[in-house]
Formats: sequence, structure tokens, C-alpha cells
Amino acid sequence: MPQTEELAEKIQRRRTFAIISHPDAGKTTLTEKLLLYGGAIRLAGTVKGRKAEKYAVSDWMEIEKQRGISVTSSVMQFDYDGFHINILDTPGHQDFSEDTYRTLVAADSAVMLIDGAKGVEAQTIKLFHVCRMRGIPIFTFVNKMDRFTKDPFDLMEELEQVLGIRACPMNWPIGSGTDFKGVYNRTQKRIELFTSEGHGQKMVAATTGTADDPRFRELLGEKLYDQLCEDIALLDEAGDAFDLEKVKQGELTPMYFGSAMTNFGVQPFLEDFLSYAPAPAPRKTAEGDMEPTQAAFSGFVFKIQANMNPAHRDRIAFIRICSGRFEKEMTVYQTRTKKNIRLAQPQQFLAQDRNIVEEAYAGDIIGVFDPGVFHIGDTLCPPGQSFHFEGIPMFPAEHFANVTIKDAMKRKQFLKGVEQIAEEGAIQLFKQPFAGYESLIVGVVGVLQLEVLEYRLKNEYKVDVRMEQLPYGYARWVVPAKFTTERIGYTNDALVVQDAYDRQVVLFTNEWFMRRTVDENKDAQFLDIPPVL
Ligand code: GDP
Repeated sequence: MPQTEELAEKIQRRRTFAIISHPDAGKTTLTEKLLLYGGAIRLAGTVKGRKAEKYAVSDWMEIEKQRGISVTSSVMQFDYDGFHINILDTPGHQDFSEDTYRTLVAADSAVMLIDGAKGVEAQTIKLFHVCRMRGIPIFTFVNKMDRFTKDPFDLMEELEQVLGIRACPMNWPIGSGTDFKGVYNRTQKRIELFTSEGHGQKMVAATTGTADDPRFRELLGEKLYDQLCEDIALLDEAGDAFDLEKVKQGELTPMYFGSAMTNFGVQPFLEDFLSYAPAPAPRKTAEGDMEPTQAAFSGFVFKIQANMNPAHRDRIAFIRICSGRFEKEMTVYQTRTKKNIRLAQPQQFLAQDRNIVEEAYAGDIIGVFDPGVFHIGDTLCPPGQSFHFEGIPMFPAEHFANVTIKDAMKRKQFLKGVEQIAEEGAIQLFKQPFAGYESLIVGVVGVLQLEVLEYRLKNEYKVDVRMEQLPYGYARWVVPAKFTTERIGYTNDALVVQDAYDRQVVLFTNEWFMRRTVDENKDAQFLDIPPVL
């Protein structure tokens, strides 16, 4: 087979997606079950082996286990039916949405997971809109059907009213709660019967049969059977027909009902998803679209994470491959620094297990060892070329705190810690002119990130700090610099500071005062994200 054809075929079999949901909808459970079908783990929830210590494969950090939330996005890969699948796990908690937004840039489609009893929740709405803005296809999985849930027609209505997207149910629930009997698969025209045997720890085979099978009338009972026939007739008549083009445009979401915990409906969902979800698409650069099938490797860094494994003090840069084929130890050109660099120790992930990758293709996510050379948003292109992938968002910090070390002898570790964590993109660092380095101002998008910072400094860098939250809510980079406190007037409403690159930044407590300052200083620009260096 000619090389280009082989490359195109490999890329065609890649599926890279993120699961978006509100905390507690069951994302960790679903991720685990998908991995189970991919044969990546045998017994869901017991990756670490010990029974008493069940926790999800996708939870990396100690703090996640302690708080029971997913703090950072991680990446998992598995193969199924000839497809190579990259799942981008995203933190559901809103304080980490910055990280999530950037992760969504690396995805080609999204699975929107909804708790059947709760419907569309706050965080789902936010993440949905990011996916919408990117125009990626969204597949809906309504979870926890083994429990009492909202009426499925009401859930469809909610998607339309709250999110503004029409839904096409691909299967339809029969009964609810303790009466949940299974689903009717509309494409295959068959009933898949629910069984909760095995409590979702093993794969379960669903019982199937055609809807007109008299056995089902008997099995479901007159009432549920009649209800099902009525519902399906209504959907066939008045509902939106499945239209793959509309799905690809993000105008229609295929909707599935199931129960991740008991495994019900997960495998049919996975199979449908793999056949309908898009393969890697072209990516935008200022010079035009980059086709994934271009032979030369290119990609961008969307996430940097330090100390993922306490046993190896290391830092990993996550790269979304946009074109071509990646090979171990290959040299690439980093547009920002205008330097060639070698991608050492490439890795692919299954939570705690890491595999060294020999090769990877457009669409895949790889992690490379980062000796401190990568920044979020970096484009890596073939040596001899220079371009930049667009669309990796930066978010202005909204909460600020003074962070001071308790023991002045630990200044060096403190600085190393905050600088590394800042390079990961989780915090922004500021210092007051003439102030020492025992105390720094930290800006974050979500307050919980301050807690994570304190925890990580203590655990990873052995530094205890005192945190004092500051009243500021806005940071603005001033261009051109040379903006002094005198120009604002001495006030408690603003503070002139410097960022890690000595650029001038003004912190404001309120929008009104900020607007006034902007109006009164027309010779300067006030940017809400750092200007390009
Ligand atoms: P996440 O916060 O979205 O990652 O949610 P988890 O996967 O941690 O699930 C939250 C809770 O919901 C856990 O107690 C799960 O056991 C439970 N859960 C997940 N899926 C289901 C389901 O299909 N049915 C029921 N009854 N509970 C579920």
C-alpha cells in the first residue's frame, strides 16, 4: 500500500473525544466502562487491585481522590474494533473550566453525559457552549436509567429549550426506576433488556429481540408495551429523523439512554459513536487549514502537567497531533522560540500505566517529557516550516491571593513550585515592585485552584504557605508599560504589579473603577490576556 494511503487509513480510524458533564453525572464511571470494553481493564473500578480502595482510572492526583472530584484532565487510549480511541477526561468542577476549555480544543467530538434524574445542569450548559462554539458534533448519553429519572420527552425538550439543540433519540427507555426494563433500539429495531447482574463490573450481554416479538409483550407487560408502541409512533412521526450531516454540524445530537454503572447500553453506544463520530478534521492556522493527512508531523501543546507520578518527578506536555505521523525522538520546530527540539520520551496513557509510543498519528494525543521548554498553545511544526495553530483560549484570572512562605529558608523551593505550576497554566504569578520573593500574588480562574496550589506546594515541593485572598477581580496588562501608581491615584481599588516576565499589570477590585481608569488613560491599552512576548 502506498504510504500516503496507509497514513490516510490510520487517521480515518482515529476517534478523539471529550466527555462533558456536570459533577456526579457519572463521567468517571462511563470512562471506566468504555475502557472495559476496549479491553484496557478487566474489572472496572479496581485498577489498583485492592477492593477497599476502588477509585477511577482517570483520577491522577492524590487530591482528586481526597476530594472525590477530577481536578485535571487526563487522557486515555484504547483500541476497539479497529479504531484507535483517545478519550480526553475533563474536570467537571467549574473552578477548573479553564483547563477543560483548552482540552476541548484538542477533541474532535464530545459526549455530553446527563444524569437522567437531574437533566441539563449548570456545568453541562457551559461546556456545551464551548463545544458549540467549536462546531464539534455532540453525542448525548442520558445516564442512571436504572434509577427513577425524568420523563424522556421532557429531557428532549430540555435539550432544546436550555441548550438550543434538537435531539434524535437513538434508543428509547422502557419504564423507569425499579420498573426500568431496558431500551428499544430504533436503528436496529430491537428491544435490549436490562439486567443488573454483575453490578457493572463485567461486560454484560443485553438480551435482544424484535419489537413485535410476542415474548416482549409478555415480558414487559401490557402497560409498558403499549406505552412503548405509542412513544415510538410519536417519535417516528413528530421527531427529527437521524441526519448525520446535521450531527456533524452540531445542529442535532443523537441521544442514548443507558446506565454506566450497570454497563447497560454502553457497548451499543460505543459502537454507534465510533461509526458516526468524525475522524480528525483539518486544523486552522493563519496560513490556511492543515490537513491531517499531510505527511509531515505537526501539532500543538494544550496542557502541561507536572509530577503526575510522585515516583518520577517529571513534567509532561500533552500534544494533539494535527497532521502526519509522529515518531519517537523526532525533531520538530517550535514556532514560539524559533528552535528545533527533539521530542524525548513520548508516552501514551492509561492512567497510572504509561506506554512508550513508537509512533502516533494525526488525531492522537501524546505526552512528551518536558524539561521546561513547552508552553500551552505552542505549535510544533516540521523543521523548515513555521506556522501557528489557532484557537487555544487563555482566560483572565478572576481571583487573587497573596501567597507567603511560612519558612523563609524554603524560598528556592517555593519559587520553583509556583513557577512550575504557573507554566502548567493553572495559575498566573504577579509580584509587587520592590517586594521580595517570600510573598507573591497569584491569580486564578476558579478559587479551588488556590486550594490545589496550597496542597501541591506542600506535597510536591514540601513548602508550607499562608494564603490571604485579595479583593481584586480583574487583571489588565498595560501596553505600553511605564504606568505608575501615581497615574491611578493611591487607592484601594487598584494595584500595579508585574507578571513573571516583568510586564506591567494592574489589578482592579471592581469593573466601574477599571472602566474609569481605561477611559482616563487613552494613551494606554488594557489587555485582559497577556500580550504576546
Ligand atoms: P462524575 O463526577 O461525573 O465522574 O461521576 P461518577 O462516575 O463518580 O459517579 C457519581 C456517582 O453516580 C457514583 O456514586 C456512581 O456510582 C453513580 N453512578 C454512575 N453511573 C450510574 C448509573 O448508571 N446508575 C446509578 N444508579 N448510579 C450511577
